[in-house]
Amino acid sequence: MKAAEILAEIGQQVSVCEKCTLHYSRKRAVPGEGPVDSTVIFIGEGPGFYENEQGRPFVGAAGKFLDELLAACGLQREKVFITNVVKCRPPGNRDPLPEELAACSDYLERQIEAINPKVIVTLGRFSMARFMPLAKIGEVHGQASWVHGRLIVPMYHPAAALHQPSLKPILERDFKRLPGYIDQARQSQPEMKPTSADPPAAPQEDEPTQLSLF
Ligand code: URA
Ligand code: SF4
Repeated sequence: MKAAEILAEIGQQVSVCEKCTLHYSRKRAVPGEGPVDSTVIFIGEGPGFYENEQGRPFVGAAGKFLDELLAACGLQREKVFITNVVKCRPPGNRDPLPEELAACSDYLERQIEAINPKVIVTLGRFSMARFMPLAKIGEVHGQASWVHGRLIVPMYHPAAALHQPSLKPILERDFKRLPGYIDQARQSQPEMKPTSADPPAAPQEDEPTQLSLF
């Protein structure tokens, strides 16, 4: 099956999914959006109020800030894939529960496999924990690590900067490093790319290696 067909199928499955209790309160599921051949994917936490209304990721206040961060580092939103670790809105924007993250995990896994991005930008701790379970965001934000042949770049969540203004310049600075990381990942050796023999991204089993290059 082609990547576009796989993504469409995931979108369809997510829209009717009942694998966790978040489906009871959702209005629209938010599978994610962007080109199937994106070099970079951005992974947030979960839909908020406006995302649940519109069925699209990052369309509220945090999304507006994300758009600004992308534009400031020369990335067009339309050229990157944007999704979340859970595809339905946690009521009241509470944190997703471990069982919800586990139930939804397979959709994200298949999206990543289909898109095969070179760079994964995690927005917030739930997204980061998937790839770098032991990392602390305060220590690693903005620093890229190779995990299963992809460059993982953990960022603070844009919504965090709306609540805590001191994080705003930090996020802006970290995003400015993205173009360099993307170039670096594009130039990486073929053996760094994941192969079908690689195990699926199972962060618990993998110690990320910090890149001293950056
Ligand atoms: N916050 C997220 O983590 N994801 C969204 O899609 C919107 C806000
Ligand atoms: Fe299904 Fe994920 Fe929505 Fe839960 S959050 S109902 S697992 S799509």
